[in-house]
Amino acid sequence: MTPDVSADGPDHDPNAEVGPATVTFQCPACHARRRVALAKGSVGGDMRMDLAALQHHLEYATCPSCGARNAAVVAEHARTRTRDRLMFAGGYAALALLAVVVPMIALLPPAYGLLHWALTLWPRWRRRMWLPIVGGAVLFGTMVAWVIEMPRYAFVVPVSVVAMVLWPRRDPAEPFTTAAEQLTFGDPLP
Ligand SMILES: [Zn+2]
Repeated sequence: MTPDVSADGPDHDPNAEVGPATVTFQCPACHARRRVALAKGSVGGDMRMDLAALQHHLEYATCPSCGARNAAVVAEHARTRTRDRLMFAGGYAALALLAVVVPMIALLPPAYGLLHWALTLWPRWRRRMWLPIVGGAVLFGTMVAWVIEMPRYAFVVPVSVVAMVLWPRRDPAEPFTTAAEQLTFGDPLP
């Protein structure tokens, strides 16, 4: 089931007032219909781009009436996420095997982590996100020290990354949360 989405911007009705792009959302479960627009901060001004963004986020929309989501999209998202995590974990498992022979190769995950840490330091500092700043420094610092101090057990570092990747948790970038933030629903239509 896909939500019944019909674009009805000013192109649709030449006499309509030019306003922010809106489409009609119909819930696949309860069939409630609502006008939906981009949240205020997300309106770009280019009608075509705004409509494209609307259509994209609508795929991941949560019905404000009954809380239902598009079942096919939910299933596809779960499949993709599992596949990505397994591929990521498989890559680090291979790295762990290599690190048994060449211990210094285990410096790769903390090196990458430290690079990311350094690149995000300033934006995180400005937003006072002390936990990821301190946590990242401690975690990657410990990994580097571990590999250098105990090269025989260097493989533990990529193995710990595998464990972290496979640990069940919420996906921080999950598109459904983003869609909820990006869409503004109107009152139910008759
Ligand atoms: Zn619904």
